[in-house]
Amino acid sequence: MIRDVGKACRGVPFPCMVPPKRVFDMNYKSVKGTKDLLPQDTAAWLHVESVIREVMELYRYGEIRTPVFEDTAVFARGIGEETDIVGKEMYTFLDKGGSSLTLRPEMTAPVIRAFIQHSMGEQGVLNKLYYIGPMFRQERPQAGRFRQFHQFGFECIGQQSPTCDAEIIMMAAEIYRRLGIQFTLKINSVGDPVCRPKYREALQEFLGGVHDQLSPESQRRAETNPMRVLDSKNENDRKLTADAPVILDYLTEECRSHFDQTLALLDGLGVAYEVDPRLVRGLDYYTMTAFEFVSTDLGSQDALGGGGRYDGLVDQLGGKATPAVGFAAGIERLLMVLEKNEYAFPTRGPLVYLVGMHDESRAWTFQQAVRLRSIGISVEMDYAGRSVKAQMREANRLQSRYVLIVGEEEMATSQAQVKDMREGTQESIAFEQLADYFSSRRQSQALEEQH
Ligand code: AMP
Repeated sequence: MIRDVGKACRGVPFPCMVPPKRVFDMNYKSVKGTKDLLPQDTAAWLHVESVIREVMELYRYGEIRTPVFEDTAVFARGIGEETDIVGKEMYTFLDKGGSSLTLRPEMTAPVIRAFIQHSMGEQGVLNKLYYIGPMFRQERPQAGRFRQFHQFGFECIGQQSPTCDAEIIMMAAEIYRRLGIQFTLKINSVGDPVCRPKYREALQEFLGGVHDQLSPESQRRAETNPMRVLDSKNENDRKLTADAPVILDYLTEECRSHFDQTLALLDGLGVAYEVDPRLVRGLDYYTMTAFEFVSTDLGSQDALGGGGRYDGLVDQLGGKATPAVGFAAGIERLLMVLEKNEYAFPTRGPLVYLVGMHDESRAWTFQQAVRLRSIGISVEMDYAGRSVKAQMREANRLQSRYVLIVGEEEMATSQAQVKDMREGTQESIAFEQLADYFSSRRQSQALEEQH
């Protein structure tokens, strides 16, 4: 662990690059709240990502990749100074040129920054974008909460149509459906800058009556961002605000109609939802639809993902006012649910394991492995000079579909023994036939997997 850098750094300009003495103890660990993903983990990640990409392809969303850091102002303006994320959780630093930069804590603000920067609004009536990548928040780590975590999300930019809201919700639902994840969909409308001031006034009046009994956090929010008081996790706050006025009673006709149309589209698709009037977003650029997917399979951190409409954000970040709606979800949380459900991740061993029985045949297996791989066949082999028995054991452990065995006799006759590990059969195949033999086996395997 790196500790006590104070003395070594004296006189060295910040940030100190002098390695402390304890470096030589060599007990490095990944930083608290971050995780290494090892090959046995990434297999599950790749599967989840492939499901996300398949759904994105079907809905015709294009992937956007932005840098992992941005000017701090992008987030301060794009998320809101008032939020916990900006107020408490951002990894913000000054670079050597004195610019304030921040590791992205979420992706909507960067996506909109890019949308404006590249004049994407001029390229069509609708921009449909998705992303998958790491986000950074300095939260207290606990089960389901990390400091580097990963989100996938999608943004539909350009139209206020309720169809876009319903489509975004359906895309998230489709991903969860494909992964067999049960969810509850909560939905609300948070109105717009026309209906909110009146609601805010009524809410503040109500909160004034219970102010002294609220938690200190909620007392503060009652002044700065009263809608967020309804969001409080504090039990007592929730009791005190049980009868607080709800925004749904204050919606303008336009907002009401948008909400009703969105719900009607979901009804038409047979999607179950709960209207939750406490589901709020406090900032002005959030408009109309707000929704959240929660899982009953998660503990206290039960939010799978959430989203909503943000018609005021493009304008807030300096672009031409453009309506938009989006969704973001945590991948770690999703994987936690899959693990709990004992989800059967597809596993696949190599198509063939090459076993060499003596020096010459071992050299041959390497040549053959490279050749077969170059025509798209996944091959594993022995690199440690192990006995034939040990190689067979390894092929079994890796769940190789075929094992190819060559020894002195096979080398002399240019014929290999190929064992089908599933059927338990064995046949002799001429060396020059091997590429065709395994190519056709690979195709049959791919067909089997599709069905
Ligand atoms: P938010 O951007 O706060 O609305 O978060 C969207 C989703 O990202 C949440 O529903 C979680 O699934 C996930 N998420 C947010 N913060 C974290 C975190 N610190 N660790 C892991 N997942 C997170």
